[in-house]
Amino acid sequence: MTASLLAHRAFIGLGSNLDNPIARVIEAITALDQLPLCRVVKQSPLYLSTPVGPQDQDDFVNAVVELHSAYTPLALLDQLQRLEQQQRRVRLRHWGPRTLDLDLLLYDGLTLLSPRLEIPHREMLRRVFVWAPLLDIAPHATLPDGRALATLVPLDDRAQLKVISSHATR
Ligand code: ADP
Ligand code: MG
Repeated sequence: MTASLLAHRAFIGLGSNLDNPIARVIEAITALDQLPLCRVVKQSPLYLSTPVGPQDQDDFVNAVVELHSAYTPLALLDQLQRLEQQQRRVRLRHWGPRTLDLDLLLYDGLTLLSPRLEIPHREMLRRVFVWAPLLDIAPHATLPDGRALATLVPLDDRAQLKVISSHATR
């Protein structure tokens, strides 16, 4: 697949807090890059964040990647969910520990509201561990309505995150 056919641009949020989470996130980024209709073109640093919801669980490792892809949004969600299953994602309780969480954050300038898939991801503006790494790799990212992401989030909250590893931008 030549790059010119991978016409769609998507941002994926990754999170893990079980079973060697740094390795889980790095493996997932590699797996995304190896999908037949996808290339990872940018990768944020890895961050450590405290959990949303129950606090009696380990911190999360989070990152965001930019994909160039030929998948439709739902086909891409299928791939993300397949990768979550492959990493034997454990979901014991809502917002509880998980081996791997893959969220489709933005897909071109698309707005989508369907039972399985909502784009933009409904929590992305509320989760510093999602919007901060997204802004790292796409400082001028906009929502489908044209508003700049950087103007919609409390940028000072980035101090809550700890960088655990820097990766050269692809
Ligand atoms: P969260 O990622 O918000 O912590 P979950 O991963 O547990 O929550 O939610 C998974 C469900 O969310 C799936 O059933 C999936 O169909 C749905 N979903 C809706 N929109 C999206 C999206 N943009 N990306 C990933 N999953 C989504
Ligand atoms: Mg999810």
